[in-house]
Amino acid sequence: VKIRAVETHPVQLPPRRPHGWAGSIASVGGFVIVKLHTDEGLVGLGEAATGIEWGGDWGRYAGESAKTVCHVLADYLLPAIAGESPFDIELIHARMDRVVRGHHYAKAALDMACYDLMGKATGKPAHAFLGGCFRREIRLVHSLGLQLTPDQLVAEAEAVLQEGIKTLKLKVGGEARRDLEATRRLRELAGPDIEITLDANRGWRDVKTAVEMIKRLEAYRVSFIEQPVEGADRLAAVRRQVSTPLMADESAWTPQDVYELAQKQAVDMISVYTTKPGGLHKARKVATVCEVVGFSANLNGSLETGVGNAANLHLVAACRAIDQPCVVATNAPAGRAPTRVATHFYTDDIVAEPYVYRDGHLVVPDGPGLGIELDEAKLRQYRIG
Ligand SMILES: [Mg+2]
Repeated sequence: VKIRAVETHPVQLPPRRPHGWAGSIASVGGFVIVKLHTDEGLVGLGEAATGIEWGGDWGRYAGESAKTVCHVLADYLLPAIAGESPFDIELIHARMDRVVRGHHYAKAALDMACYDLMGKATGKPAHAFLGGCFRREIRLVHSLGLQLTPDQLVAEAEAVLQEGIKTLKLKVGGEARRDLEATRRLRELAGPDIEITLDANRGWRDVKTAVEMIKRLEAYRVSFIEQPVEGADRLAAVRRQVSTPLMADESAWTPQDVYELAQKQAVDMISVYTTKPGGLHKARKVATVCEVVGFSANLNGSLETGVGNAANLHLVAACRAIDQPCVVATNAPAGRAPTRVATHFYTDDIVAEPYVYRDGHLVVPDGPGLGIELDEAKLRQYRIG
């Protein structure tokens, strides 16, 4: 099987509600769905998330948009890998990295499509090429955005707890009074047994502010705090002064980042994405480094469509180190969503079948490749640009 051509389809799905975080200016920047064609007529599906205002520490990894993804894919990455076999995934990454530095989201789309092709060529699910199925059901976190008032987020949390969610994630890092009140109200609602985690998205402006806020938030027994400040050295400085475990997200893109965070004793946990390191093959390496240095990990994403989230589910299925509940949207065509609110981010999707949700968990698809099919009419309907 040889890679021959690529099609790019920029899309945007209708959100159930806006989802804000510290530093966000747009709602969601859209996605690029990729169809990777082979000489034997197989088509692999992939997706590039975008987010032009989001990136690594100190501009280390740039944001990408639907336009930059389409350009980089068509003009640089496809020519670099055309003629190669999708099974030679290490070689494909070496070729992509040689012609383009960075642009991990664009690379992730081709990487996912290669795993979909490996599966379609052999009749096996994608996780079979990532280490096999370690877990069949993925425990979910429901994420509550920064723009929600305490009243709104309590109402939303109440609904998702009724639907079986056992972990709540709250975006903080904005106004101190709102963050404290929101966390207090959430703990009151949730009772002692529900896990609450916080994500500041580097929103606290310095180490001192972060330490003060975390010490006040500790009264509400949060399990961990994600990315309180920017940069490994500042994370390490915060970590030395608080007892709540810290998780790196924006600071942890590549396997090398995770190794550096471990050496600096900067965090306790890592937020693994399929997209940040540039696809499943490299995300697998990130998870392996987590295992080696003793970091627990979760999977977070960029509220992907049903294509990108299928890749996310296969990654978590295969990686033992990703043992924390994960942020994955419950993607489904309109009117067929298995949940009313729980991780239900879009009111419609481009996948033909809804994800299977069971008591706070998503079931990993077990069909060939990513295990999903596209609804072509929806792909046209939600096209942008
Ligand atoms: Mg985060």
